Amino acid sequence: MDQAAQSPGPTVLSAHKISKVFWMKGARHPLQVFSGVSLTLRAGEMLALVGPSGSGKSTLLRCLAGLEPVTEGHVVLLETNLTRASRATLAGMLRENVGLLLINPPLVPSLTSLQNVELPGQLAGRSSWSNRELSLRTLDELGAADLARKTPEQLTPPQAAKVSLARLLTQRPKIVFADEPTGRLSTSDSKLVLRSLKKLSRDGAAVVLATHDLHLASQADHVITVVDGALGATLDRPSAEQILAAMDQAVYGEDA
Ligand code: ADP
Ligand code: MG
Repeated sequence: MDQAAQSPGPTVLSAHKISKVFWMKGARHPLQVFSGVSLTLRAGEMLALVGPSGSGKSTLLRCLAGLEPVTEGHVVLLETNLTRASRATLAGMLRENVGLLLINPPLVPSLTSLQNVELPGQLAGRSSWSNRELSLRTLDELGAADLARKTPEQLTPPQAAKVSLARLLTQRPKIVFADEPTGRLSTSDSKLVLRSLKKLSRDGAAVVLATHDLHLASQADHVITVVDGALGATLDRPSAEQILAAMDQAVYGEDA
């Protein structure tokens, strides 16, 4: 890693003692997913939240991204306190500076893949010629040029994931939230995702990943294990084996 990449960028995300409780209809007790979570992330850093299914990774990611309100505490995303921000401020920030890579990518059904990839550039006021050129090139680099004219309903889930990845790359967001980005993908497509996230990170974006892919997590600068809503200590540049050991410790304690 070169010197420039090592110098810490400005803080782009911080959580201050946040907790999340779901009140389910008819349930006697509320479901506390996590509590007292504090963390910070700087521009250019990649953070992976790793843990078994049902641990609260997706809920935490959604709270950090402003897609879900927290129950207690507050999140500051790109200098905006999410609890205090108006809906319009939140929507504008999400659209312009926050990139999402979600399991069911929110592609606009009435637009072609190419138009979906062009959308962020259009909203940012990029000239339509350069926006088209960038969008086509990005699809091509992901081996998805043949998907350009298809609509979302004509795409298989891995194809939709590629289009969503292309859209993320043309958006050039300041921070990316990716939920199980390699979850349903082949090894070669997973490599594309990893390469793309690393490119965004090199270009200065902060990246938050929720994953149980230990290989993917081991590429992150920081890894936090999440087991039953409890966050472990931050591991800096751990190997896949070190992450596994931390998870075993969190799940089985002294028995590990
Ligand atoms: P993970 O991503 O680690 O698999 P989730 O964040 O999806 O974990 O889920 C954590 C817990 O929160 C689970 O018990 C899940 O059932 C519950 N949960 C998630 N979303 C909701 C919701 N919208 N309403 C109620 N409970 C939820
Ligand atoms: Mg999840």
